[in-house]
Amino acid sequence: MNESSNSSAAVAAVQATPWLTATLTGTGPGPAAFNGLAGAGTLVCYGDKGGVVKLQFDAGRGTTMRLSQLGVEPAELNGIFFTHMHNDHTEGFADLVQLRWFYHGTGPKIDAVGSCDVASPRGFTVSCQKFLTHIADSFIHSGEIAQRHSEDKNRTAGGPAELINTITFEPKNEPQQVWSTGDVRVSAIRSTHMVGHVSYRVDTPAGSVVIGGDAGNDVLAPPRASSTSDQVEKLAKGADIIVHSTIHPIMGPDKGSGMFPYAFYRQSTASDLGAMAKRVGAKYLMLTHLIPAMGAERQGPWKIPGGPLTEADYRKAVEESGFTGNIIVGTDLASVRLPAK
Ligand SMILES: [Zn+2]
Repeated sequence: MNESSNSSAAVAAVQATPWLTATLTGTGPGPAAFNGLAGAGTLVCYGDKGGVVKLQFDAGRGTTMRLSQLGVEPAELNGIFFTHMHNDHTEGFADLVQLRWFYHGTGPKIDAVGSCDVASPRGFTVSCQKFLTHIADSFIHSGEIAQRHSEDKNRTAGGPAELINTITFEPKNEPQQVWSTGDVRVSAIRSTHMVGHVSYRVDTPAGSVVIGGDAGNDVLAPPRASSTSDQVEKLAKGADIIVHSTIHPIMGPDKGSGMFPYAFYRQSTASDLGAMAKRVGAKYLMLTHLIPAMGAERQGPWKIPGGPLTEADYRKAVEESGFTGNIIVGTDLASVRLPAK
């Protein structure tokens, strides 16, 4: 082999190196709207010489707009995974799937993955399956779906819901694989925030990322060792990246924010997330869904004791845990790549 073919083989080898990215498509502070931040969501991409797999985890308000800034069209997504059925994690999906139907009305279908129906002891049932089945009902009832189908018969007559391949699973206390393609495996575990809440982990040859969602400890109030979820910790053992919703300890009921204790205690604090990331050996901790958002004067109706928080306030809360890995205090489109360039 001569020298030039040696070097082109080296270039090909570099390009074939598998890579993984985790990009925050929305970091908004829960249901509250603040300063243009999109609602919760994370895009995980894995690339190798076979192509790129694109997976969206949750789809809060404005997800399609953030994806457009990344040059990712809804039709390119291989799958959408829902941690739970709170609107700040789901309401962007109607927009996303309607747009997919508008331009790609014959498919392919998108895999939509979430918990099976779970009945609450309080008498209601949370259903990802029904959410997906009825995702475009308002557009059906307005007559829009029929009108657009009449213009282009290639679009499915039943609208966007017919382009969704629903995959539900029973949440368990041990990790279970719920989706895969090629070298990419997605597993899930039950976690606590509301009934049916689950957390996910993506494993690839380039690394692994955990999406905690809004998970908190099963024990809903002190005394407890930590606000973080034991199940998420189990799922995150040895993971490279942890993406997790975060609440700052300053919002605690003992600090005078006025926030309902149940709303504070069902989230994980920045300090406890740092401690968990340290215990599992994570390289990156990506804080997202920051309660409160950086710079906000209020979190919904609640005040922020001491005034608006900065990136340094969140970073300090994590560093107090002793975590020495990389801390990303999430803003929309913040991204981590493995291997780092
Ligand atoms: Zn949330």
